[in-house]
Amino acid sequence: LPAHLAPTLSAALDQIHTEAQALFGQGHVADYIPALARVPPRQFGMAVALTDGSTFAVGDAQTPFSIQSISKLFTFVLALKTQGDALWSRVGREPSGAAFNSMVQLETEHGIPRNPFINAGALVITDILTTGYAHLDYALLGAMRRLTDDPALSWNVAVARSERETGHRNMALAYFMKSYGNFVNPPELVLDNYCRQCAIEMSCAQLAQATMFLANGGRDLGRDGSPDEHMLSPADTRRVNALLLTCGAYDAAGDFAYRIGLPVKTGVGGGIVAIAPGMGTVAVWSPELDAKGNSVLGAFALERLVQLTGWHYASA
Ligand code: GLN
Repeated sequence: LPAHLAPTLSAALDQIHTEAQALFGQGHVADYIPALARVPPRQFGMAVALTDGSTFAVGDAQTPFSIQSISKLFTFVLALKTQGDALWSRVGREPSGAAFNSMVQLETEHGIPRNPFINAGALVITDILTTGYAHLDYALLGAMRRLTDDPALSWNVAVARSERETGHRNMALAYFMKSYGNFVNPPELVLDNYCRQCAIEMSCAQLAQATMFLANGGRDLGRDGSPDEHMLSPADTRRVNALLLTCGAYDAAGDFAYRIGLPVKTGVGGGIVAIAPGMGTVAVWSPELDAKGNSVLGAFALERLVQLTGWHYASA
């Protein structure tokens, strides 16, 4: 979107904000993590960051929320940076077509999860990083603080503890993979790290900024909008975006690609981040989820934004 069209983008966000309100009440806040069940459902925020450094926001775009599975994007990028192709012996890169927390494929596929974004795959990634970093929780936080320029960015202790105390299925996934030899560290230790990464809180504005490198050939933008940190090579950036397009919304990935057509990562906190390569990033948050654990208003808002801007993976 050229800079002279900025007023159009502001108007589009205002229009989407208004239209989205009509959809409140169609989904349900995640309640399998007790601390998330207490989040007031009728909230909506959206932020867009363009590769030229300009930003746009509407609604509750500055309100921090639990990023949950969006954290899997950041842990995967860290693992790809540090391990390269070696990680593909531990996790696949195919859409699963199954729920994010499913374990059925793990038995027939000998403990190798389909992709890094379903829970089983993300647990393997966190296992890999737990081996690589003495204090993964702070290493990850450090990377995310640099990407957001926010030294106060952190995880919500109550949410992390709440999931850690009730996350029996994730613990089962970890032990099941361990039985196949695809888990190195004690599952308890990896689950501590996993629950903290999922409990990291960010606003839409921060999330759009933190994922800018994926829209910008692997380069983060500094505070002044100039290229800052080199996060990923252009080739790895394309690979991450391809996986987000095919696997980022779990068993709704095909539907998201059809409706939105951009690489996305969703989380049960109600956040979704979308990458428009070469253009910018979009973060949207609204806590009410559909049956597959993706934000109802978030998906609607992204669908409307691509209709209004023409952004699409195939035209980027
Ligand atoms: N922490 C959540 C879980 O493991 C993340 C799931 C999600 O956001 N889809 O169940």
